[in-house]
Order: sequence, then structure tokens, then C-alpha cells
Amino acid sequence: MQVHVRGRFAPSPTGPLHPGSLLAALGSWLFARHAGGEWWLRIEDVDRIREVAGAADDQLATLAAFGFAHDGPVERQSNRDALYAAALDRLIAAGHAFECHCSRNVLEAQGGIHRACVPGLQRPDPAIRLRVPDGCSIDFIDAIHGPKSQRVDRDVGDFVLKRSDGCWAYQLAVVVDDAAQGITAVVRGADLLDSSARQILLQRLLGYPTPDYAHLPLLVDRLGHKLSKSSAAHPIDRGDPLPALRDAWRQLGQQEFAATPHATSHEWLHDAVERFVPSRVPRGPLSLNLEQS
Ligand code: GLU
Repeated sequence: MQVHVRGRFAPSPTGPLHPGSLLAALGSWLFARHAGGEWWLRIEDVDRIREVAGAADDQLATLAAFGFAHDGPVERQSNRDALYAAALDRLIAAGHAFECHCSRNVLEAQGGIHRACVPGLQRPDPAIRLRVPDGCSIDFIDAIHGPKSQRVDRDVGDFVLKRSDGCWAYQLAVVVDDAAQGITAVVRGADLLDSSARQILLQRLLGYPTPDYAHLPLLVDRLGHKLSKSSAAHPIDRGDPLPALRDAWRQLGQQEFAATPHATSHEWLHDAVERFVPSRVPRGPLSLNLEQS
């Protein structure tokens, strides 16, 4: 059978999976499997500073314990420097990327949006930025949020592709990886909705196809903070997957169903795929009363 849909879950190994990451895992799984597609995993360990040792293996063990079977090899961004360097070289050669010597202070004085370098500045560790064309406007349709449009020059400015500390920027790595892995459906948290226009712009400049996008509701604490940033975010319990899966299912706006008695989480996932109704997924954000959990 030819694969038409290939989704993915791409956690950053900054700690154990929590209910917010489970929502993204389950949501991406359901969209892909419901369409008869594949579901791939990628460890986004491009930011070595934020990485927590052992977190990637812990996340993979939790996903396996929850019954999520994946397709394809599990890629780690830390092994993919050569791919990112080749893409960056192409952008530089085509005049789309440039070395930027501006300091953080200079950038802040310009309102945080880079449009032109301050002349004469020199630093040993320049960042590399994408030159966003004047008037650049990107339109796309998100499966949950509907039509979206962003003026990337005005709202974002020239964005970083390689940081001054030598780390690849998320925006470049994710675009290269989604293309290299043949991902056709990007389903992830709504905190990344705002990144999609930048990623589509990069896809066009690099000659890559643009995948379909769906941005899932964010789980927030009572103060409106994203769950992963909240001290109240408890890790999900690898020893007892079904209650956490049912919570995530409800948060995705889906109707509860009576699972087969004694169903394993793998069996529950199989049933859920058949019952999933994509149009029921809410935009969110969804507020959780974490303090009581
Ligand atoms: N690595 C990102 C995160 O854990 C997700 C990136 C993506 O799905 O594009 O929040």
C-alpha cells in the first residue's frame, strides 16, 4: 500500500513527558493513523543547553509503555549536522541568508525585530539569519484554526537559522527534518502555530513541499502558562497509561467510549483510531486545575 500520510511526534528532551506532551503525541498519532498513515518519532535535541541527560530515552520508554508503535527509524537531531549545514549553505549561496553581528542590545533597541544590520559591528561569533523579503506574507490553512496569514517581515523579521553559540535554530532543523523524513502532516501544540509561516517560507526557499498543519489545543495552568513551563506539570505515569490516555482523548474533544474490559493501552489506541473525529478537536487553550492533581 502506498503511504499517503506520514505524521510525526517530535519531543524536545527537556524532561519526562507530561499531559501536554501526551496530548501532542496522541493528537499526532490519531490524525495520522485515522488517515491510514504512518507515525514517526524524532528527538529534537538540537538545543544542547536545554537538553536533560537521559530524557530522550525516558520519553521513548514512556511512549512504548503507552502502546504507541512508530514507523521508520527514530532520528535524533544531534546526528544531523551535515543535513542542516547543507541546507544553510544553499540558502547562503542563493543570497537568502547572511551573517549577523548585531548584539542582543542592538536588536532590543530595534524592538526585537531584525530588518537590517547596524553597520560596522563585528563579533567573533555571528549568528546566521534568513533575509525575509520586504512585504513577505505567508498564508496557509490550519486544520483546526482555519485560514492563517502572517506578514513575516513585519511580525517576525529576519530570523535566526544558526545561533551565535553554534546551535542550529529550531526553525531550520524542523524544516530540513520534516522534508528529509517525508512528513506530510505536522500535528503539534498551538504554541507553534506562530512558527508555521516561517517554516513555510523556508520550505519554499529550499524547494521542499509544504505539509498539512494542525495545531492542537494547549494545556495551560490556572495562570494561563503553558503546561511544560509550569512547575505544576507532573510527569505522566508510565505504569498506568489508560487514565492519562482517556484524559487526553477528552481534551481532544472526543466522545468517551466503553473500552473492551481489560484492554491494554495498545488495544485502546486501536479502538480510539476508529472513533476519532478530527473536526471535534477544539482550538483551546484548555485550562487544567493542576494544583489538585
Ligand atoms: N520539539 C518541539 C517541542 O517539543 C516540537 C516541534 C514540532 O513539533 O515542530 O515542543
